[in-house]
Amino acid sequence: MTQEELFKKLVAHCKEYGFIFPSSEIYDGLGAVYDYGQNGVELKNNIKRYWWDSMVKLHENIVGLDAAIFMHPRTWEASGHVGAFNDPLIDNRDSKKRYRADVLIEDWLAKQDEKIEKEVEKARKRFGDSFDEEKYRATSPRVAETAAKRDAVHTRFAEALNANDLAELRQIIIDCEIVCPISGTRNWTEVRQFNLMFSTQMGSTADGASTIYLRPETAQGIFVNFLNVQKTGRMKLPFGIAQIGKAFRNEIVARQFIFRMREFEQMEMQFFVRPGEEMRWWQQWKETRMAWHRALGFGDDNYRFHDHDKLAHYANAATDIEYNFPFGFKEVEGIHSRTDYDLGRHQEYSGKKIQYFDPELGQSYVPYVVETSIGVDRMFLQIMSAAYTEEKLEGGEERVVLRIPAPLAPTKVAVMPLVKKDGLPEVAQRIIDMLKFDHNVAYDEKDSIGKRYRRQDAVGTPLCVTVDHQTLEDNTVTVRHRDSMAQERVAIDALPALVEAEVSFRSLLSKVKA
Ligand code: ATP
Repeated sequence: MTQEELFKKLVAHCKEYGFIFPSSEIYDGLGAVYDYGQNGVELKNNIKRYWWDSMVKLHENIVGLDAAIFMHPRTWEASGHVGAFNDPLIDNRDSKKRYRADVLIEDWLAKQDEKIEKEVEKARKRFGDSFDEEKYRATSPRVAETAAKRDAVHTRFAEALNANDLAELRQIIIDCEIVCPISGTRNWTEVRQFNLMFSTQMGSTADGASTIYLRPETAQGIFVNFLNVQKTGRMKLPFGIAQIGKAFRNEIVARQFIFRMREFEQMEMQFFVRPGEEMRWWQQWKETRMAWHRALGFGDDNYRFHDHDKLAHYANAATDIEYNFPFGFKEVEGIHSRTDYDLGRHQEYSGKKIQYFDPELGQSYVPYVVETSIGVDRMFLQIMSAAYTEEKLEGGEERVVLRIPAPLAPTKVAVMPLVKKDGLPEVAQRIIDMLKFDHNVAYDEKDSIGKRYRRQDAVGTPLCVTVDHQTLEDNTVTVRHRDSMAQERVAIDALPALVEAEVSFRSLLSKVKA
């Protein structure tokens, strides 16, 4: 199965099993807006809990916040979003399709990397055991030629981005002979800047109404509350403020399912530090956040850091954590050193002093900020991509199983009476009543046990408990484990401890370095 086919199947699976639906689907949907179904909302809530607990519970110096989506319009002038929150767009005149110029070039660069990897793989097969990869990469003329071309374009690209040189971006697209994937032509328009913020009116009369924006990031809600939290919480530097909430961006191109949405959710933490100490903290947060991802057990090789080619107007260092999605390595999270830009600008625009008195240094200053910013939806897609598995079983049967890390699974236990009579459903119900205060538990009595297991596998339920006639005699049940499909006979009384050991957040959180 190609990665493209896998991705298509994943999207279909998300819909079929109540994870994700297109928004307002009965009206044919709305571009890049999605709804989370009965299983999706549970997984999403668990992702948020994993993040929140790892920030707020595991760190004594991080506290939470829930700021409003609407903010005073001056916020976005101060933050630079009114002037500079733009993406460069380009249209293909034949297909009438719109693209992000920077993404077209990034994809071209990624293709060159793929070309090089393919050459290396071919050579590995040709030379067998005697293959010296390092030497081959250094000496193969074909690899050298592709790498040189790639590096030259990469340099031009980074320079064009940093200089905001739109004509040069277009020229790179022309020079690299990049074609529109739909029309196959190179009939491109000029590159234009496009502001990504949604706006609306607040106030009832046309005269008195003012334009306000739907926040494009949650971070500004944290910055404008810096003093409120610092003073009322008597927080000492370094300390962090964490927030989860909706953000909105009028994305130019919104394909790839929930990877790029117009309404999405962010989990952001702003960590306030002494000026001059930001690089140390930036390194520290890179490690901590990578450990958070890797604790999920999807394979360390599937993650990498990718430093930004263009630093945002507020940053002095920035890296992304990328995950190996079915469509390649792509950003899931950004870790940015934002300097004192945001607090400094709010101080300037509001006219209010936003400073911290450092008792050790005996002086006041505008703190520096290191931010970790991750999309809930992209994290959701990461988990679904990693979890979706098609397996051939003994006897030729097949199953689709979602290997979602057990603490994040929408349903933790499914309880099933072997038959719908003889008092077995009543025992099953008693087990559910025992577990439901601590866990999401499902009841299923339809179809054969085999079919019921398949249904639970397909939504990632880690444990199935079957009640049979023996249960009536000795109060034991069969517990079946999702990943290994192993079954064991256990006493009903032992279930709470067994379930807790398998699905608790404790084991996951203890893998994250606090
Ligand atoms: P990209 O380069 O993909 O547009 P970005 O660098 O603009 O992303 P940030 O502004 O750093 O993204 O946002 C932080 C995080 O928010 C991203 O790592 C991503 O997980 C999430 N995010 C940003 N834009 C979207 C979107 N349109 N849909 C879903 N998640 C998003």
